[in-house]
Amino acid sequence: MQGIYSMLNLILFGPPGAGKGTQSEKLISQYHLKHISTGDLLRAERQEGTELGIQANEYISKGELVPDAVVIGMVRNFMLSNTDAHGFIFDGFPRTIPQAEALDAMLTEFNAQIDVVLGLEVQEDELVKRLLLRGQTSGRADDQSEETIRTRFQEYQNKTLPIQGYYDQKSKYVGVHGIGEIDEIFSQLCEKIDALN
Ligand code: ADP
Repeated sequence: MQGIYSMLNLILFGPPGAGKGTQSEKLISQYHLKHISTGDLLRAERQEGTELGIQANEYISKGELVPDAVVIGMVRNFMLSNTDAHGFIFDGFPRTIPQAEALDAMLTEFNAQIDVVLGLEVQEDELVKRLLLRGQTSGRADDQSEETIRTRFQEYQNKTLPIQGYYDQKSKYVGVHGIGEIDEIFSQLCEKIDALN
């Protein structure tokens, strides 16, 4: 059973390089949430050399989305092993409409729901700059090639952006301007979350 204020499930939404990872870290400590980043989970699988990790890397290295069933299964396992959480921040998930539908169904099973979808809004030229810069230090191969970055944007445009409409229809989407000081963007996100109560 969750109390009115004790459970908060939010999606941090936005294109590659929008700052989801950075803002997630700040949000989890402020609101004591569990962080689910499917990108991080997939990279951990690859690091461990699991079959899933090896297969996922075929997609990741090209900038393509990993098949829905794979990421949905991973998120499901993560949630099942964190049933004591006060809520989750979903970062980089859902990335397709079927993933969004699966997430809704899973949360319903847990007697929970998505409370808000916070969108970090940043235009593409700024994103490419940020990703190439990150590629110099992150060691992420998918941040180092402009071609892979371009494929990731295409995937975002075609498969992920429709999710905004999906949650907008449920009156759950809230956009925030994602350019500026990290702390300024963070306080805007907090404002939106605190307005829910
Ligand atoms: P970014 O937001 O910078 O693109 P992520 O770490 O979220 O980085 O994702 C890296 C890659 O992992 C994606 O390009 C994609 O190949 C794969 N991936 C991550 N999350 C998902 C997901 N929910 N569905 C499908 N593929 C995913």
